[in-house]
Amino acid sequence: MSIAVREITCKSALTKTGGFLSTYTHSMQPYKGCVFGCPYCYVQALPIHRYHGGSWGQYVDVKVNIAAVLARELARIRDKGRSLRVFMSSATDPYQGSEAKYGITRKCLEAFIIHQPDLLVVQTRSPLVRRDLDLIRKIRNCVLSMTIETDDDSVRRSVTPGTPSIKHRLDVLKMAMEAGITVQAAVSPMLPNNATRLAQLLDTNCHRVVVDTYFDGDGSGGKRTEQLGIRALYDELGYANWYHGAAHIELLGHLSDVLGPDRIVFGKEGFNSAVEMISFPKENCDPG
Ligand code: SF4
Repeated sequence: MSIAVREITCKSALTKTGGFLSTYTHSMQPYKGCVFGCPYCYVQALPIHRYHGGSWGQYVDVKVNIAAVLARELARIRDKGRSLRVFMSSATDPYQGSEAKYGITRKCLEAFIIHQPDLLVVQTRSPLVRRDLDLIRKIRNCVLSMTIETDDDSVRRSVTPGTPSIKHRLDVLKMAMEAGITVQAAVSPMLPNNATRLAQLLDTNCHRVVVDTYFDGDGSGGKRTEQLGIRALYDELGYANWYHGAAHIELLGHLSDVLGPDRIVFGKEGFNSAVEMISFPKENCDPG
């Protein structure tokens, strides 16, 4: 499959948030499109994709000037003493393949080091973030949130074949914790899993876990996921008994038993409570 990569410029870097990300002030997308091409990705239903004209997962627009634009916006916000809680990213993955070549996200992190935010959540499912752990640890209020939808790599391969292996993601989470970075695992959306094994894997590799589902997390009570054909995909893959609104309950129970209830959050409220994590001790953190 060939990926159409296009270099573009942007006029603004930060977008004011609301809705699902209600406790953040802004979201930020270094790229348009996402080559991981998850079939359940709600971005496919948004105007940003529909007006683009490309097939989901087969294009990426690289915002080559975004770091310079971001630096100006951050300076302005900080000069005015306004709060700054940023979610990067909600409509793309900031560490998809093109980042290895362009280093756009890395340059944005450099801007955040100069203009420290009240909160920055770096949300990805790519082990490429390992390259930037040196910068992330210099941002005082930063949370690295890695998507780990399942413990089972055969499930990952069948539902999201374009995404990196679960083992590589867990390895980077562990490395980030050892580097003193505050780390969250996002089981979002939860895919079919072995709840006991997943809870054990997450226990030693993150500070806390946020769980979300197709029914609670797609912003429409599951209708949007239905329209994207995920029920039919689950039927085809033999996962039909995982497609219902209570499928996550067993996992929540195991997570609570193994990690303790204080390390588990759920859904929209969970994603919006990341600010509570930045009081976690950050051994070896060197913001200087
Ligand atoms: S990695 Fe995130 S942004 Fe990219 S396709 Fe998957 S869900 Fe969408």
